[in-house]
Amino acid sequence: MSAFHREKVLSVRHWTDTLFSFTATRNSGFRFLNGQFAMIGLEVDGRPLLRAYSMASANHEESLEFFSIKVADGPLTSRLQQIKEGDTILVGRKATGTLITDNLIPGKRLLLLSTGTGLAPFASLIKDPEVYERFETIVLVHGCRQVSELAYGEQLVARLTEDELFGELLRDKLVYYPTVTREPFRNRGRITDLISSSQLFDDVGLPPLDIETDRIMMCGSPGMLEELRDMLNARGFEEGNHSEPGHFVIEKAFVER
Ligand SMILES: Cc1cc2nc3c(=O)[nH]c(=O)nc-3n(C[C@H](O)[C@H](O)[C@H](O)COP(=O)(O)OP(=O)(O)OC[C@H]3O[C@@H](n4cnc5c(N)ncnc54)[C@H](O)[C@@H]3O)c2cc1C
Repeated sequence: MSAFHREKVLSVRHWTDTLFSFTATRNSGFRFLNGQFAMIGLEVDGRPLLRAYSMASANHEESLEFFSIKVADGPLTSRLQQIKEGDTILVGRKATGTLITDNLIPGKRLLLLSTGTGLAPFASLIKDPEVYERFETIVLVHGCRQVSELAYGEQLVARLTEDELFGELLRDKLVYYPTVTREPFRNRGRITDLISSSQLFDDVGLPPLDIETDRIMMCGSPGMLEELRDMLNARGFEEGNHSEPGHFVIEKAFVER
């Protein structure tokens, strides 16, 4: 049995010259938990070229969705950015990852902190009804350099807010906080600063970070994750994993090579 499924690309959308998203068919045997990632890619010269990708679709959805970077000289994404409807992609059979609700101890507020394509696992999780059952409030933070890089997340939240099934849940419980660092925008600044100064909470009219109520998932650049981990550890928050749930969980959005 092959280690991956061959899936057909159903649609591709380019958001900026560095970001695109695409949907693909989903083998009925491919199971995953919302927030997990799998190895996906293309066959190149008869061999699989695979990279880790978070599913941006939820596990109740029929098709798969991914939100991707375009790295100009990246072995995979220099090719993947050319895919068109009808093309074949490879999707590894096994999904894994730490950004799952079972790795967190119960709490009241869930902070989903992301930069760049680190939004992808949270695009999946905000479509999970169970997340809304477990938490009273979900705060989705997406940090980018430029305003144009927020578009995928903005449109996703707008679409879900209008959705018959999810609209009410999102309007009641989801606080969406996009922020940029290099252009004028209504929210500005780095996520670490926005949390440590409490600016984020002041802006949305919510109480500041509190270990009693807050559980955190984060996915972004290795540098941002390191800073956030240090900040949370200094405040007594403990990192969770599969063997022991904690106050927060981390997944790298990419690895520096
Ligand atoms: C757990 C995990 C989940 C991931 N999920 C996603 C995802 O959902 N979407 C996605 O686009 N990528 C994701 N990645 C990164 C992905 O695996 C690849 O690195 C990316 O597709 C680029 O592949 P490449 O072969 O073109 O270049 P690579 O040789 O893999 O990367 C080259 C360089 O490009 C930069 N880079 C790579 N990926 C990114 C990125 N996403 N954002 C900013 N800079 C980057 C890094 O500096 C890296 O060293 C994930 C990585 C991990 C570890």
